[in-house]
Amino acid sequence: MNRRTFLKSTLVGTGALALPGFTLSARAAASGSRPAVLKLCSQEGRIPGGSLKEKVANLQKYGCVGIEFGGNPAGRVAEIKATLKGTGIKVSALCWGSQKGDLVSLDLEKRKKGIEAIKSALNTAAELESTGVIFVPCFHKQSELKPAELDKVLEEIFPDMGDYARKVGSRILIEPLNKKETFYINRLEQAVAICNKLNNEGICMMGDFYHMALEESDQTQAFVTAGKWLHHVHLATRDHRILPAQEPHSYVEGFKGLKQIGYQDFCSLECGCKKGANPEVDVPKAFDYLRQQWDAAKV
Ligand code: MG
Repeated sequence: MNRRTFLKSTLVGTGALALPGFTLSARAAASGSRPAVLKLCSQEGRIPGGSLKEKVANLQKYGCVGIEFGGNPAGRVAEIKATLKGTGIKVSALCWGSQKGDLVSLDLEKRKKGIEAIKSALNTAAELESTGVIFVPCFHKQSELKPAELDKVLEEIFPDMGDYARKVGSRILIEPLNKKETFYINRLEQAVAICNKLNNEGICMMGDFYHMALEESDQTQAFVTAGKWLHHVHLATRDHRILPAQEPHSYVEGFKGLKQIGYQDFCSLECGCKKGANPEVDVPKAFDYLRQQWDAAKV
C-alpha cells in the first residue's frame, strides 16, 4: 500500500476530511473526487439579447459555460444545437416543473399523461446532452395528499422514471422549494432521503439558493448532505429573488458546501432584474460577483 492509498483508506469515514487544516485539493485527492468547478450559467430569459444567438454571444462575453431552457423545448432541438455548436456553451438543465401536480395525482389517467410528458422532456434533455429535467412534485393547491402519502406516490412512480432517465441518458432533478410555494420537500435533506431510498442514478436533485436561504439553517451542510445526488444549482437573492449583487446576499457558505463535495455541474441564474436597472450592466456584474464569492469560499 503506497502512502496515497494508505491516506485514502485511513482518512475516509474518520471525519478527518472535515478538519479545517485539510486543504481542498488534498481532500479531493483523498476522496478520489475532482476539485469543484464554478460553471456559470443562466436561464435563457434572464440574458439580454433579441435572439438565442445574441443571448449565447452574451453568455460567452460574460464568461459563462451554460444555458438553461424552460419546459420541454422539443421543437427547438435543431435550433439550439446549431446555435450552440462551437460556442463552448452547453445546455445545463431543463426547468420543467410540476405539470400542475399531475404526476402525483390520484387520477391515474392524469398521472399517466404527466409521466409521459416528463419522459418526453427526458428525451429532449438527453438529446441536448443536458444535466437533467427539473421536477417539482406539486406546488400549493396542486395536491390534497399529505407528505407521507406523496412519499408513497413517488416511491411508486420514480423507479420506472429513473430507469427510463438512465436508459435515455438523463436524470430527474427534484427541486426543493420554500414553504411559500409548496408544503412538500422544502429542504435539500428531504430530497436526499428520497434519492437515498430509491438509490437510482436517474433520480437526483438540485438546490436553489433563493429557497435555501429561506429554509436551510446551514447552507454548507445542506449541500454537503446532498453530495453525489446534487446535479444543478439555481442562483438568486433571498429577499426579492433578483440578480446576485443587486441586493446584499452572500453565496459563500453555500459555495463552501459545493467545494466540499467537488461539485461539477452548473450554477444557473433564476432571478429577476431590479426594477429600473440595466440587465446589460447588471447581469455581467452578477457573474463577476459570483466569481468573487466563489474565491472567498475557503474550505
Ligand atoms: Mg429554482
